[in-house]
Amino acid sequence: MDKKLIGIDLGGTTAKIALLNKEGDITEKWTIKTNIEDNGSNIVQDIGNSLNQKLAELQVKSDEFYGIGMGTPGAVNFEKGTVKGAYNLNWVEEQNVSEDLGRITGLKVHLDNDANVAALGERWKGAGEGGANVVFVTLGTGVGGGIFAEGKILHGVRGAAGEIGHVTVVPENGYDCTCGKKGCLETIASATGIVRVAKDLAKDFSGKSKLRDAIINDEEVTAKLVFDFEKENDELAKLVVDKISFYLALALSHIGNMLNPEKIIIGGGVSAAGDALLKPVIAYFETMVFPAVRESTKISIATKGNDAGVIGAAWLALPNEEA
Ligand code: ZN
Repeated sequence: MDKKLIGIDLGGTTAKIALLNKEGDITEKWTIKTNIEDNGSNIVQDIGNSLNQKLAELQVKSDEFYGIGMGTPGAVNFEKGTVKGAYNLNWVEEQNVSEDLGRITGLKVHLDNDANVAALGERWKGAGEGGANVVFVTLGTGVGGGIFAEGKILHGVRGAAGEIGHVTVVPENGYDCTCGKKGCLETIASATGIVRVAKDLAKDFSGKSKLRDAIINDEEVTAKLVFDFEKENDELAKLVVDKISFYLALALSHIGNMLNPEKIIIGGGVSAAGDALLKPVIAYFETMVFPAVRESTKISIATKGNDAGVIGAAWLALPNEEA
């Protein structure tokens, strides 16, 4: 009988856990709360207990699995299976996640960072359609990314490969970024960045606009609201979407020209805008890339949503000859 896989996607509020067959289809999935108290010292134990309990309930033994793959925030040493600097988990010091979870469950644990496992999930079972060269960009509270090139995920010398959110797109007078630089893609194309751009453009906008009215009246403005108004042909919202699309396309064009992937997939909460985002991004992208890239690198919207993390994590546990 074919062995199965376990995928875990650890986040600051919840850990998503799933059992999958080796084709990457989820057969069982559940969520537990992430307890970040006591420097996050209970997190790994909680996950291990929950997993052991579920396997006991289902009456499946751990040797029916190839192993566990797990995505976590923070700076991951994927060879050692450790992570540090995961501030939303209160993991400041280095944590031996693979070793600890392995001891609790009796399974081999493969660790990588959360953006990379989401990229792997979309690559394997989502919009990436199993391609060997796929780049994933996630537009959420921040902007993250993962690069799958020539069949493997790129880590770089310090695990910082694929930090697409920190590509400088505004070299002069850009917004301050949380990383300490200015003008990073994240300052414009994240959910918070889009709102920042909207508020800035509203200052010089004198035409009629519901978005401008909402900003002036101090109503809650979200990235979703900007796209909703854009669909109604709101003039200011159209300017905002045009501006963020330009800068997103600029960053993606560097990826396209450099790596020539078959797919660049846009995911994260902001990608719910769908064609309203995709169409202008593609239009700008095509003016910014080399002809061979224009013909072969396609941009599309992610399809796996919140499941991308557990699916991609599970892929890490797949033996090489099956991947
Ligand atoms: Zn930055």
